[in-house]
Amino acid sequence: MNSIKIFSPATIANISCGFDVLGLALDNIGDEMIIKKINEPGVRITKIVGQKLPLETTKNVAGVAALALLNEMETSFGFEIEIYKNIKPGSGIGSSAASAAGAVWGINELLGKPFNKTQLVKFAMEGEKLASGTLHADNVAPALFGGFTLVRSYNPLDIIQINTPKELFVTVIHPHIEIKTVDARAILSPTVLLKDAVKQWGNVGGLISGLYTEDYELIGRSLEDFIVEPIRATLIPNYYKVKESALNAGALGCGISGSGPSIFALCKGENVAKTVALALKENYKKTGIPFDVYSSKINSEGIKIIK
Ligand code: ADP
Repeated sequence: MNSIKIFSPATIANISCGFDVLGLALDNIGDEMIIKKINEPGVRITKIVGQKLPLETTKNVAGVAALALLNEMETSFGFEIEIYKNIKPGSGIGSSAASAAGAVWGINELLGKPFNKTQLVKFAMEGEKLASGTLHADNVAPALFGGFTLVRSYNPLDIIQINTPKELFVTVIHPHIEIKTVDARAILSPTVLLKDAVKQWGNVGGLISGLYTEDYELIGRSLEDFIVEPIRATLIPNYYKVKESALNAGALGCGISGSGPSIFALCKGENVAKTVALALKENYKKTGIPFDVYSSKINSEGIKIIK
């Protein structure tokens, strides 16, 4: 096999209480990539369709992640990458992560899978570092593993795949304003109050437990964020009104997707997810800001080969 076409999913990082450690993969929104083995060594990005992004290997997260992998494995040949972007950069649903994770996953397939998924996360994080300035794995981990993932530890890197309850769906609203992850990180405080930390880790434990026992009420109760949401909500017009309308329409919980501006709502069942989507549309129309709304089941397989 010398060429591969893949789907790399959009992802939601943080999931309210799990800043930098929790993430999930969406099923029907994502980028496509074609990766080819070529005779010349190195990595070349030959085409990007759908968004204006740098073709230069060291300025594109896909290129940086691919180079991180090839640094660990000397090859006499190289790779060409084409990226078909459906996820807008800066939307908060893992645009850079889809490219970084897709590049390393596709190259690993063409090499005969010498690396495991945790190793691929490590390479993909180098791409994320280019986009946001920090090595975070909460988008690339769910893109590579599928489902819900927990980064139990960054050093050493320890990624845990968490059970995905069968009836869980997610609705996402993406207001068309751009928030760069790097800016949304810069406004956060480096310290937290112990009383907030106590509430936060209670919720992380509750969410993980709810996901395993498929206790939807517990999942809903645990979708609270006392640390990051109060600061980042200020960057998203109408945030708390959107959240209220999602909860009123039956969502289990609602929060900021990654660093925003996208907002996600977890729902029990596809019908509730659709009702929530309608409520969010009605609510956001009032702002005059253009937006997209998606509903999706949780993608449990991660990046996959497509025809
Ligand atoms: P997101 O959370 O949507 O990934 P970020 O702000 O983290 O948004 O990343 C977007 C930044 O990464 C932009 O500055 C963009 O130019 C840069 N970037 C470089 N290569 C890519 C790529 N292949 N896909 C998306 N963004 C990329």
